Amino acid sequence: MNGFSTGEEDSRGAADQICCLVDEGERCTRPTSNASYSKRIQKTVTQKRLKLNLDHMARHIYICEYHKQVILCARSKQQQQQQRRRKESEEDSGETDNDLPEADLFQLQVGTLRRYKRHYKISTRPGLNKAQLADTLMKHFKTIPVVEKEALTFFIFTVKTNANKLDQKNGLTSEPT
Ligand SMILES: [Zn+2]
Repeated sequence: MNGFSTGEEDSRGAADQICCLVDEGERCTRPTSNASYSKRIQKTVTQKRLKLNLDHMARHIYICEYHKQVILCARSKQQQQQQRRRKESEEDSGETDNDLPEADLFQLQVGTLRRYKRHYKISTRPGLNKAQLADTLMKHFKTIPVVEKEALTFFIFTVKTNANKLDQKNGLTSEPT
């Protein structure tokens, strides 16, 4: 790896190589570092619209320490921005600050969703697809107050007595695992 690869470029000796980049139209004159103008680096350059190009006259793709830092710096800034943006969008939708797990109603069967809808007498506009229905019900779901003690008691009662007839009818009775 350290300059001992069989590539012809390397056989010229790395000592007198200068950075392969063209910076705003001018070929860089700094000596190369161990960094090369890899695909990953190129991607960063493109994304960050850095005015850097590979000089096609160059017989290698090594870049200087300065340009390496410029690109790495741009990349880490970009990552920070992405993280910040992600965080902000989460905060906008009001889904951060608590680590409550979110139920994904879309995972349920359509029949179950319809039953939910009927049970709470939720009115939806006709012709909703499953995703839209799950979405609408989710909004309602979040508004249901949960009395933990009652919910747990009822849940255990239901399990113990196998009381959920509807699920049995749908063949969903499952053996305790
Ligand atoms: Zn350079």
